[in-house]
Amino acid sequence: MLVKIHQDDEFLFQGKRKRLVEVLKEKGIADTKVLEAMLKVPRHLFYDHNTARPALLDLVYSIKALNIGAGQTISNPYTVALQTQLIQVNPGDKILEIGTGCGYQTAVLIELKAQVYSIERQKELFDKTSKLLPALGYKVKKLHYGDGYLGLPLFAPFQKIIVTAAAPSIPKELVNQLDIKGVMIIPVGDEKHQELLLVTKKSITDVEVVKIVKCDFVPMLENKN
Ligand code: SAH
Repeated sequence: MLVKIHQDDEFLFQGKRKRLVEVLKEKGIADTKVLEAMLKVPRHLFYDHNTARPALLDLVYSIKALNIGAGQTISNPYTVALQTQLIQVNPGDKILEIGTGCGYQTAVLIELKAQVYSIERQKELFDKTSKLLPALGYKVKKLHYGDGYLGLPLFAPFQKIIVTAAAPSIPKELVNQLDIKGVMIIPVGDEKHQELLLVTKKSITDVEVVKIVKCDFVPMLENKN
C-alpha cells in the first residue's frame, strides 16, 4: 500500500506541494531550507495512509489543520513552517517535540537533519506514528509515549524545543531541559486566546520571551489517558 501511494506521490502530489510552498512564501515564510523540507515531505501520507480519500487529500495541501482521528489534528502547514522557521534548525540539533500526533512536523525536522525526540500522550496516535515514520524512511532518535509536560530529562539538554499543543503557561520543566542559548517555540493560552511564544534561554537564570502571533492549537493535556 505504501509503495503504491509513493508512486502516486510522484505524479499527483508533488505539484500540490510546489503550490503549497508558493503560498507559504507569499505568507512570509522565507527560510529556503524549511521550504525545501516541506517540498519533500509527503504530507498526504501523514493525514491518512490507509484509506486514501481523494476529496480530503485535496485539502491536505491547503492552509488548514485537519482532523486525524482521536480528536486530534494534523497542524496547519503554515503553522508548521512558521514554528520551524522560528527555531532556526541547524543540522545535528537535538530537538524535543511535544505532541508527535501524526508525525508530520517530526518528519519536517528530520528532513532538516535534526536529531528528533518526540513525545505523544495518546496511545493510538503514538502506535500509529511509531510505525508510519520508519515506514516512510524517517529515523527518529526517540518516540516516547508519555506526558510532554515532563519532557525527556534523560536526553536533555535540547538545543530546540517545539511544542505543538497549547499549554496554560510555559512549563518550567521544559525550560530546565533547554540548553543555554537554546530556544523553545510554544503556544500558550486557553481554548479561546493563545499566543505563540519564542522562549530563549539566555543563561541558567535568564529567559527571554517574545510574543510572535495569536494562534489556535489543540490543548496540551496533563496526565495520560
Ligand atoms: N505535531 C503534529 C501536531 C499534533 S496536534 C503535526 O505535525 O501535525 C498536538 C498533539 O499533541 C496531539 O497529538 C495531542 O495528542 C498531543 N498532546 C496533547 N497534550 C500532550 C501532552 N501533555 N504530552 C504529549 N503530547 C500531547
